[in-house]
Amino acid sequence: MRVLILGGGVVGITTAYQLQKDGHTVTVLEQAPQVAEGASWANAGMIAPGHSFVWSSPAAPKILLKSLFLKDQALRFKLSADPHLYSWSLRFLMQCTAAKARRNTLLKHRLAVHSQSVLQTVVREEAIQYDRTSAGILYFHRSREALDKGVANMRLLEADGQEIRIVDAQEIVHHEPALAASRGSIAGGILCPTDETGDAAKFTRALAAIVETRGSKILTGTRIVGIERGNEAIARVVTDKGEFVADTYVLCLGAESPILARKIGLGLPIYPVKGYSLTIPSSTGPWLQNSLSSTSTISLPSRRWAIASASPPPRNSQAMTAATSLRILPS
Ligand SMILES: Cc1cc2nc3c(=O)[nH]c(=O)nc-3n(C[C@H](O)[C@H](O)[C@H](O)COP(=O)(O)OP(=O)(O)OC[C@H]3O[C@@H](n4cnc5c(N)ncnc54)[C@H](O)[C@@H]3O)c2cc1C
Repeated sequence: MRVLILGGGVVGITTAYQLQKDGHTVTVLEQAPQVAEGASWANAGMIAPGHSFVWSSPAAPKILLKSLFLKDQALRFKLSADPHLYSWSLRFLMQCTAAKARRNTLLKHRLAVHSQSVLQTVVREEAIQYDRTSAGILYFHRSREALDKGVANMRLLEADGQEIRIVDAQEIVHHEPALAASRGSIAGGILCPTDETGDAAKFTRALAAIVETRGSKILTGTRIVGIERGNEAIARVVTDKGEFVADTYVLCLGAESPILARKIGLGLPIYPVKGYSLTIPSSTGPWLQNSLSSTSTISLPSRRWAIASASPPPRNSQAMTAATSLRILPS
């Protein structure tokens, strides 16, 4: 079958890879000069089933309401003239009950565990290098109350098969010696030994090269401007480089998917959120010694800084150098 994949992020390229493996003739359309230039460019790179908790929890409505007045909330809601924000928000709020949060978290956890296993197979079979670390991810808390709450929440995932270890401040410092000076202000944490990190853009670009070598087409610099509908199916995809026709079309445009889907009367329950990430060259030194690789991504939820990707640094390097690239992804 001829398959046209719309979008060359991690979702579009992994879809292309799997469909090509199944014997289909694949073409990917991507507007950017290379693949993985959107959300897949500089995300935190966490492959973390242990982090499967959904945002739509019973606590979310209060946090979002508070964020209208307080700017230091982990999730922030900004009023907008876009009516789609309000229809999406209503659907979001309807998921914020304890029962739905539990159900959605478990669904997300199972999907994450399956995805991690598929990822590991692809990485092993194709020998892809993407700054992978498999030392686990540590979630730690500064107060006993927050730790107890975190552990109680984590029991849900543990009952679903997630491996966890409750660790004290001493063990946290053992994992990350740079936290030694802060030992007194760490109450403890949870280590998810099977969680991983890696560079999503490196992974996506390496996989795209494999897919191209095996005969698929990845047409970068090609902006999709419309999708035309026939009687029962899509008739063609219109781009600034001409029209494309296939037997099947796969929409992988990330945050732009709902905008194009609307043109053919499809309402997708997707609304973009804005996140920040800072990619910096790093090394050992006074900073987080075991948590940063030669380039690491730090995601900044609101004003709080969280180290979100981790890998051992080269042992001979000096203190972390200044940030060389800061890129704010468009909302
Ligand atoms: C700050 C931040 C941190 C994150 N951290 C994590 C994390 O730790 N772990 C995790 O699992 N996820 C994380 N995510 C989420 C993750 O990055 C996304 O879920 C993932 O990258 C989505 O991939 P995608 O292929 O769907 O979208 P994208 O990577 O955005 O790909 C969509 C592609 O479509 C192209 N496109 C769009 N419109 C058009 C058009 N009209 N014509 C042609 N091409 C078009 C874009 O250029 C883009 O390349 C994070 C996201 C952010 C922003």
